Amino acid sequence: MFFRILKAWLYWRKDWDSLCNRCGKCCYTRSFGDKGEIIIHYDDPCVNLDTETNLCRIYKDRFRKCIGCGKVNLFVALFYPSMPKDCAYVQTFRLWRKQKENEE
Ligand code: SF4
Ligand code: SF4
Repeated sequence: MFFRILKAWLYWRKDWDSLCNRCGKCCYTRSFGDKGEIIIHYDDPCVNLDTETNLCRIYKDRFRKCIGCGKVNLFVALFYPSMPKDCAYVQTFRLWRKQKENEE
């Protein structure tokens, strides 16, 4: 599995941002439910999110202008528990999760 993750990273690292499917889910406040599931608070988006299009209004400057905006890097993609399950980065890199789902 490590090599599959490495292979995916080598493939995507040069065009990292294009992997994002622009769902905007990571731009809403999130919390955890009783069973550890992620709850997305669609009534509480980042002030910079256009909720009609799910696009960031300050995309190019987002890390400089928005204190709460963090880059989705490989570590985040692999391990951050608050990333939405259907995030394209999570789907691409948390391969153990997919394997577990297939076994269930
Ligand atoms: S600033 Fe960051 S969190 Fe806010 S809408 Fe843009 S990408 Fe999303
Ligand atoms: S949740 Fe993932 S796929 Fe959706 S906007 Fe955020 S980084 Fe992109």
